[in-house]
Amino acid sequence: MAGELNRVYVPSALEEDGRSLALGCFSSEETAWQVLRTFLKKSDQMSLKSASVVVWDVDVVGEDGVTILSTMECKDCPVCGRHTFWMDLENFSALCHGDACAAWVEESTIEPGVIDCGWPPVRFMKQTKDIEEAFAELFKVGDQINAVARTANMQKDESSKLLDEFDQRASSQD
Ligand SMILES: [Zn+2]
Repeated sequence: MAGELNRVYVPSALEEDGRSLALGCFSSEETAWQVLRTFLKKSDQMSLKSASVVVWDVDVVGEDGVTILSTMECKDCPVCGRHTFWMDLENFSALCHGDACAAWVEESTIEPGVIDCGWPPVRFMKQTKDIEEAFAELFKVGDQINAVARTANMQKDESSKLLDEFDQRASSQD
């Protein structure tokens, strides 16, 4: 690596009003992603529209020097409802970066065309035929959590109790 820096990886986020937030520039793609992921955990406290990681070749003039590695759009999470659900539009995948959530949707690596989705806190995972169905499944999980929260009349942040009850409900339904 001694002084030879040919490419830099640049994560950034775009606010609803079009302002771009620079997050730094990094010598490795891994670090760039780490920085971006950490930042996106707090996206429910900001009004972000999209985020991206681009790679710039050093000493190249103009657009030939830049390659977009990934662009993501921010949506409300189907499970926790926070504005922390990031969808990667090119390589279809989505993940909630919110604390204690991590709801996800991804095309199966084993069976192309199959869309997997899941919610790790209760080890929920399901295979679906398309993206709409995957979202519908996650919305169902979100509805169940809300139902549990209502009947128990608990605050949303009492999440461990909540998850226990959800577990019991989910298993009694099978
Ligand atoms: Zn979520």
